[in-house]
Amino acid sequence: MAALQRILFFLLVISSCAHAVVDVSAPEIRLEATLQFVEDTSGNLDLDTVMARDIDWQSNGRTFNQGYHGSAWWLHVVLHNPQDTPLQRLLEVGYAALDYVDIFVVEEGVLLKKYALGDKYPYSARPIDHRFPLVPVNILAGQTLDIYLRVQSSGALQVPLTLWEYSRFHSADFDSTVMQGAYFGGLATMAVFNLLIFIVLRELSYLLYVGFIVSTMLAMAAQQGLAFRVLWPEATQWNDHAILFFTSCTGTFAILFTLRFLRVETFAPKLARVLQAVATCCVIMLLLCFVIEYRTLAIMTMATIILAVLLAVVSGVVGLIKRVPSAQIYLLAWTLLLIGAGVISLSRLGVVEANLFTEYAVQLGSLLEVTLLSLALASRINTERRLRYQAQSEALQASRVANAELEERVKARTLDLEQLNQRLQRLSETDQLTGLANRRFLEQRLKQEWERARRHAHPVALLLIDVDHFKQVNDHYGHPAGDACLQQVAQQISAGLRQASDVAARYGGEEFCLLLPHTDRTGAEAVAERIRQNVEKTLMDVEGVRIALTVSIGLNSCIPSDGNSMEQLIKQADEALYHSKQTGRNRVMVSGA
Ligand code: GH3
Ligand code: MG
Ligand code: MG
Repeated sequence: MAALQRILFFLLVISSCAHAVVDVSAPEIRLEATLQFVEDTSGNLDLDTVMARDIDWQSNGRTFNQGYHGSAWWLHVVLHNPQDTPLQRLLEVGYAALDYVDIFVVEEGVLLKKYALGDKYPYSARPIDHRFPLVPVNILAGQTLDIYLRVQSSGALQVPLTLWEYSRFHSADFDSTVMQGAYFGGLATMAVFNLLIFIVLRELSYLLYVGFIVSTMLAMAAQQGLAFRVLWPEATQWNDHAILFFTSCTGTFAILFTLRFLRVETFAPKLARVLQAVATCCVIMLLLCFVIEYRTLAIMTMATIILAVLLAVVSGVVGLIKRVPSAQIYLLAWTLLLIGAGVISLSRLGVVEANLFTEYAVQLGSLLEVTLLSLALASRINTERRLRYQAQSEALQASRVANAELEERVKARTLDLEQLNQRLQRLSETDQLTGLANRRFLEQRLKQEWERARRHAHPVALLLIDVDHFKQVNDHYGHPAGDACLQQVAQQISAGLRQASDVAARYGGEEFCLLLPHTDRTGAEAVAERIRQNVEKTLMDVEGVRIALTVSIGLNSCIPSDGNSMEQLIKQADEALYHSKQTGRNRVMVSGA
């Protein structure tokens, strides 16, 4: 019923006079729909001129929003208290970033009060300590007041105008304070937390991310009028520039963070270059804050920031396609911020109904974004650490395999070398033609055996074997046939050996030598005789030609002592051989016999 009365009252006043009269009884009245306005392009109009009857007032729609416009705007509402008690109200301009908000309270052409608000006046000049322009309006019973506002701003000009009953205002303001507190508290926690992580890990992404959060907070605080209230209440020139400055900072950090976090360079080098260019633009905007005219800069900054956000999202999408780790969380984070921005835009356009959620959609989106980015960062670092461990263990495994292979190869090579050495050793000790030991080896062994025989007082025997008339074989059958004969004689000599310790050697030319350790004259004589007989009865076979050969053998044996020497042993064997030759050849002669 009361609502019906109110509608009738409105219809009455709208039809009866040019200016809609607002009944101020309700605890919360949005005045945009009823206000009237006039543009003052020169900015020179004063209250008296505006109050004059010939001003061409225009009616306003849902919200008063004039964008980036240099003009001053005069707004007019008529308030009426139909009740029989005075009413105390608060008039709130719900937008902080306005340069000048002059509010005039007029009754029947007489100025009752004038308030100067806006961030071009120091904060201390405000009648009520609040981040938005807020003034008390007291209306007596039955009184009608004209409220004029002169609003001018180099930034976006919005004037959401609300008339509040005190208690309703405080309860709404409490909600808003809680929301702001939760938002800034959440961001501050994230900033401190990530700063600590940066200090521990020294990973640049974290620092860029902290820069992004702090800039977001400051840009938001400046935009919401909180920074002017808390941080720089006297800095009337700086406040509106601060919004742009910190917005550019946010853009710069967002792009740098994106580049670093997604490693855009690795999967989309061209996109990375575009991002770098936009980051540079953001830095230029940031510096221009101190130089260029506000309105132009504001438009340029907003364009750059929109580009930066779009590119951040594009990077996320490309990263997702290229399967960059944590790209999905990164993309979701930015999408939430965009949803927040979308919701508030729709709410401002009246598409969705405004409520606490829509009013703080950007803050909520931004808080969720920051939280998700923090999560993405943690997950990214985790992925990288896992990859690093994996790479380390793979490298370790590879080096183990390589080491094992190397060890195997070294082993094989060592074995080869050992075999080669043995072969070389054998070669260096062997006579090439006959395969018997050579003279060098014989002399070596002779020394060893001589010393051993000396220690144990064992006899050692030496046989010198010379082929008889060998010159004639060469002369008759040729040198190669002679060689073949020598080989066969060598075989006969080897076959005559019994002990492993016996050494048969080619002593030179057609002369051979046998070293028989641990053998006395009798034993040695038996060996010599066996060899002589073997050679005698075996015809040498040289390519089918049978050749008969004989050998003469000189033999000596002794127990090494101070009374004899190795040289003597050889010399006497040689003398015995000579003796054998002298006495008709093909015989064994024993030294001293
Ligand atoms: P003898 O010992 O019975 O007195 O007569 P000889 O003919 O065997 O004696 P001499 O020492 O005069 O000759 C040795 C010959 O052995 C000379 C050389 O032609 C031959 N001779 C030495 N070394 C080799 C060799 O490696 N191959 C061949 N085919 N002949 C050799
Ligand atoms: Mg000879
Ligand atoms: Mg000879």
